Amino acid sequence: MTEHAASQPLRYSELRQAPRQSLSEAAPLPAPLTLFVEPTNICNFRCVYCPESFDNFEERSGGLHRMDARAFDLLADQVRELGRIKSLNLYMLGEPFVNRELPEFVRIARRKDIAERITITSNGTLLKEDVSRRILAAGLDYLRVSIYGGTPESYARTTQGKIALDRVVENVARFRQWRDEMGAATFVYVKMIDSGSPEENSQFLSTFRDIGDEVTIEPAMNWNDPDEGDLSLISRQQRLDSSFFSQRKQVCPFPFYSLVVHSDLRVSVCCVDWAKEAVVGDLRARTLAEIWRGEPLREFQMMQLERRAGSHPACKNCTYLHTSPDNLDDLDPEVYRRRRAPGEPHV
Ligand code: SF4
Repeated sequence: MTEHAASQPLRYSELRQAPRQSLSEAAPLPAPLTLFVEPTNICNFRCVYCPESFDNFEERSGGLHRMDARAFDLLADQVRELGRIKSLNLYMLGEPFVNRELPEFVRIARRKDIAERITITSNGTLLKEDVSRRILAAGLDYLRVSIYGGTPESYARTTQGKIALDRVVENVARFRQWRDEMGAATFVYVKMIDSGSPEENSQFLSTFRDIGDEVTIEPAMNWNDPDEGDLSLISRQQRLDSSFFSQRKQVCPFPFYSLVVHSDLRVSVCCVDWAKEAVVGDLRARTLAEIWRGEPLREFQMMQLERRAGSHPACKNCTYLHTSPDNLDDLDPEVYRRRRAPGEPHV
């Protein structure tokens, strides 16, 4: 029996296809639609294409952190003041299950009803029975499991860790079994980044076909820093040609509808800002509402609309903006400046 009686969630891919209002007409929004909250930036893997594998990761990301449940509880109250958001994503960098208070985060978010849906992305290595049952009982909507190779050899090569692919397969299968026993509605989405090898991709799909509720190959992205890590797995052109990238665009839509709260409580505009080069506030000094309505975010948005992102350290090499289903390329910066001006609320 779960604490939370949720209805069956949509398939994860259907979320991307759901009808959306025009962001260019609606911006500025009264509250973010999506909030990423990073439970920790510590990971038990060092995947070759992830900043966690960089020698200077700790220094560049401002140290290693775990958010505690009390800080999350305060944050949840601040989200409530802004209004119920669409999507609460309990991940950014790091492996969320490294933070043992993760089930408490889900329980708090559900009890305070701050989001339409709650999602965790995990590498699946730490899905032990106790924590899995507590997460399921708390009412998680989506568990997204990232798999880093279709064969045991490539998995070990990519993760640079000691945990074998077989163990993760078993973990995910048991998670689903506990879910079914408990009557929980958590949807299990399993994904692998395109290996570039059709054989390996198809081995991944056949391994997980009967284990995940949905199983997908996703394209690689560059973590906005092509000079670091092994990003040569798939060429930039291949990444951009993938159907996952909905539309090429000049203006990044993410800072207009999402925010990221890092585990050290600094707030960035997007979930690829692992090096914290696009920080627009700090929850130790400002509330979430103050940050959402504040000048640093407005300046960042204007920089995007005025096509100056090519010289911004966080954005200049980024391809992630192309994954957004929204498009703001036709939004006149002056129109937006007036809408965002104090005393001139946009409805
Ligand atoms: S362009 Fe990339 S780094 Fe810049 S805000 Fe958008 S997603 Fe973030």
